[in-house]
Amino acid sequence: MTAPADLSPTLQLACDLIRRPSVTPVDADCQKLMMQRLGNAGFTLEPMRIEDVDNFWASHGKHDGPVLCFAGHTDVVPTGPVQAWQLDPFDAVIDEHGMLCGRGAADMKGSLAAMVVAAERFVADYPDHKGSVTFLITSDEEGPAHHGTKAVVERLKARQERLDWCIVGEPSSTTLVGDVVKNGRRGSLGAKLTVRGKQGHVAYPHLAKNPIHLAAPALAELAAEHWDHGNDFFPPTSFQISNLNAGTGATNVIPGELEAVFNFRFSTESTVEGLQQRVADILDKHQLDWHIDWALSGLPFLTEPGALLDAVSSSIRDVTGRETHASTSGGTSDGRFIATMGTQVVELGPVNATIHQVNERVLAADLDVLTEIYYKTLIKLLA
Ligand SMILES: [Zn+2]
Repeated sequence: MTAPADLSPTLQLACDLIRRPSVTPVDADCQKLMMQRLGNAGFTLEPMRIEDVDNFWASHGKHDGPVLCFAGHTDVVPTGPVQAWQLDPFDAVIDEHGMLCGRGAADMKGSLAAMVVAAERFVADYPDHKGSVTFLITSDEEGPAHHGTKAVVERLKARQERLDWCIVGEPSSTTLVGDVVKNGRRGSLGAKLTVRGKQGHVAYPHLAKNPIHLAAPALAELAAEHWDHGNDFFPPTSFQISNLNAGTGATNVIPGELEAVFNFRFSTESTVEGLQQRVADILDKHQLDWHIDWALSGLPFLTEPGALLDAVSSSIRDVTGRETHASTSGGTSDGRFIATMGTQVVELGPVNATIHQVNERVLAADLDVLTEIYYKTLIKLLA
């Protein structure tokens, strides 16, 4: 175990953040600590509490020139059963294997600490840097996420703020820090389909309309459909039925209704309207009496190779010797909200092997490597 005095600035800050138990949407003064540090480094601070969610925006630099944003969340998921942890989840201990253990170590207080330390160093070393360095931090990424990044982005848009580049500190790495960055995410479109029939006795089918019989061929066709071929960055759009319900429980009753819940994970080759229209066409072809409640949880976004991806990839190479792999796999992140500002968005953070698990941990030395990568990226883009 390491005495606090031996810790690097990034590790010290990561420990201080982990020791604040900020389970969504509670921030537990994590943002206060980050703002103190950034304020001392000369950043202009703008806390934005929206409903019950703490957020803040901070910036350093000039109004003209490119804007680089570090984005992330101070909230963490619940610990789960505390007795299942080898160490107290909010103790922030570095174990004998050099792993920093605690809730949020990987997702994503380690990245937050690395961003703050890299930005402090950068503005001290390059006080007259180009453009501006900004932070967009929320305490509601793991929860409903209505009053977090999405709401802050709406405010920034309303006052015509521009964001050219954004690095989200989500733990993108698979086995070694920097081995993977996320340069986009698939969209997610959910639907609850209701197919109406007419309830009746199974012995008198001519007096009823069986929604199971009517819907089954249409569902089979939906499941077999090729929605698109994907592209260089995205796999083909996928369609999955997650729930299918019909029937009264009785064996002699034809049900009056069938309900199916399904979800599209879609690439940039498909649009929401296009998918909705094609589903409607298939259901109409089968002459169903149907209704759908759609729920869009995120549009796909993609950052094609360009200034940001180049700077991040070459910084990873400079610091680690590794060639990074850009991927769009995984679930959604707050990057989807920021991308709507026309921003190039890349997610780069530590290894994600233990996120949301008990005994969440990250190789402590990786957080110092991450700090170097962020620092180099700042130099490449804004020095
Ligand atoms: Zn996260």
